[in-house]
Amino acid sequence: MAATKKNSNTKKSNTIKLKFDTSWQYAPAPENKKSATINKQYELFINGQWQKPLSKKYFDTINPANEEKLSKVAWANEVDVDKAVKAARHAYENIWKNMPAKERAKYIFRIARIMQEKARELAIIESLDGGKPIRESRDFDIPTAANHFFYYAGWTDKLAFAFPNRQTSPLGVAGQIIPWNFPLLMAAWKIAPALATGNTVVIKSAESTPLTLLKLAEIIEEAELPPGVVNILSGAGDTGAAIVNHPDVNKIAFTGSTEVGKIIQKAIAGTQKKVTLELGGKAANIIFEDAAIDQAVEGVINGIFFNQGHVCCAGSRLYVQESILKEVVRKLKDRLESLIVGDPLDKNTDIGAINSKAQLDVIHKYIDIGKKEGAEFYQSSCPLPKKGYYCRPSLFTNVAQSNRIAQEEIFGPVLAVLSFRTVDEVIEKANNTPYGLSAGVWTDKGAKIFNMTTKMRAGVIWANTFNKFDPSSPFGGYKESGFGREGGLHGLLPYVNLVNE
Ligand code: NAP
Ligand code: MG
Repeated sequence: MAATKKNSNTKKSNTIKLKFDTSWQYAPAPENKKSATINKQYELFINGQWQKPLSKKYFDTINPANEEKLSKVAWANEVDVDKAVKAARHAYENIWKNMPAKERAKYIFRIARIMQEKARELAIIESLDGGKPIRESRDFDIPTAANHFFYYAGWTDKLAFAFPNRQTSPLGVAGQIIPWNFPLLMAAWKIAPALATGNTVVIKSAESTPLTLLKLAEIIEEAELPPGVVNILSGAGDTGAAIVNHPDVNKIAFTGSTEVGKIIQKAIAGTQKKVTLELGGKAANIIFEDAAIDQAVEGVINGIFFNQGHVCCAGSRLYVQESILKEVVRKLKDRLESLIVGDPLDKNTDIGAINSKAQLDVIHKYIDIGKKEGAEFYQSSCPLPKKGYYCRPSLFTNVAQSNRIAQEEIFGPVLAVLSFRTVDEVIEKANNTPYGLSAGVWTDKGAKIFNMTTKMRAGVIWANTFNKFDPSSPFGGYKESGFGREGGLHGLLPYVNLVNE
């Protein structure tokens, strides 16, 4: 009871002090929707052709920023999946696995170049379909996706250098399933290394964000990739399950929730299928008292609030050394007040729309849980658009390590702030989670960084920065964040058999 009372007082005083002042807002700078073409209806891309679904079913994809329908897309069922796998098998046996590597590379380069040419259109569609700010899709998602194709095109005829003294052979047909938070980028992470190593692909987009993959299908057509080498399916969870359970798929690459990852692992147990799982996270972002505090605060904002917190590696647990806790929290609250929440197509927007109503409900559920657990809640006072799914940037202080908001993935713009005194204490706290995908350390001392990085159980640890990606750098998790690596040289390994091991 006492905590609840304190919460409302804190909120009131902060709101008065920092009230969102719209008179200082930038004028709207929306990207022009007309630069993107979205068809009224999309079919399945199987064997190099647009094929009507045998399921005869379609579903709508909407724009979460205004809840308007964008398009109607085909829903692939088991029979459609079977058709796609047969096309991929045929292309694998008859074309792709025997094609000289340098010829394969040319196709992958061509895809990358066409993606660059169409970057503006792809960015607009990514923002319309998924709700992410155009700044993110324009400056990060699309260029990084194209870079993955460039990067793996480069490896295609150099596998002998990637695996010295070993011979490699492709696995066959790769079944790939991706989530809604980075649709085109996740597709690039999966398709590019699979093609580079001589595999063919059946990939499924997430239900709420099918459009950029359908655009990728158009790019693949334009690149004249042989039919069946990449098959693109839209659908829902049952489409993904049909790919996982298809007997002629040799490898499953999945990115998504830990819950579905566990289902997949059970489903393929006892089969010959290889698997990589990129799952959830609850990253610790750690600020020591010797850090450059303003930079660290900006890094925290970038790490969780941009992109609505829809990032598996989001720095959603903030650990601040006790001596600077007050200062950091004050600066965070000030910065939260200045973040612009709104139209994803506006170039000034920091936080766009939450991807779906279902995800917004999850975020609200966790905000309620945090309040009930007794943590102190703070939320920006910024205005929200009347239609669409939006959430103000929020943070909790006085969070206990055992609180659910400190342990479970929220996947929204909600930060849990905790404190620590010593290095050993924060390492123990940071590792005390079922996940282990990423982490961040902010300190002036190089030795401290090396000490932390060797003791923290996370696949990626950023030092004095956060959420930085490069195609040459591997990414993946420990514990319930999954296994296997995507990106870099390591990202080739899950797609090859190593002969003469
Ligand atoms: P999700 O519910 O697990 O869905 C991921 C994909 O799996 C979607 O395409 C989904 O289809 C499909 N799917 C659902 N049920 C399935 C089943 N039984 N068998 C096979 N496929 C199935 O995850 P999400 O909510 O879309 O994405 C958010 C999660 O992804 C978060 O937990 C986040 O941390 C994680 N993530 C991890 C990484 C990483 O690299 N580690 C990167 C990005 C996201 P539908 O969407 O059509 O239902
Ligand atoms: Mg959508």
